[in-house]
Amino acid sequence: MSDCLFCKIAEGQIPSSKVYEDEVCYAFNDISPQAPTHFLVIPKAHIGSVAEVNEDNAAVVAHIFAVISKVTKELGLDSYRVVSNIGEQAGQSVHHLHFHVLSGRDMTWPPG
Ligand code: AMP
Ligand code: ZN
Repeated sequence: MSDCLFCKIAEGQIPSSKVYEDEVCYAFNDISPQAPTHFLVIPKAHIGSVAEVNEDNAAVVAHIFAVISKVTKELGLDSYRVVSNIGEQAGQSVHHLHFHVLSGRDMTWPPG
């Protein structure tokens, strides 16, 4: 999508701090970290949010979770939180599907 920040990051048009990349997804450090480790994993193809996941593109999400499992192990993280905000009230500010991976501090439940 031409006017999407995360499409531009996935395409390398906007610089980011890369954590992982393959043909399907891209992971990079959040610019405003909310934990000692805080990175985002996004599909390279534009999907607006979890609300746009369907039977045709769900394999991308499954792949992203396999990547999260692999990358967190490589980083030595044994406890972490995966979050995806959907819609304004839940706090979604970038309308390209992304999974936050947060780790390295105590976390509260329920989230605010
Ligand atoms: P959300 O509010 O759930 O949509 O998450 C969007 C996240 O993207 C926020 O945590 C922002 O800090 C992060 N973010 C925004 N712009 C950038 C950027 N240029 N590079 C890295 N992370 C970003
Ligand atoms: Zn996009």
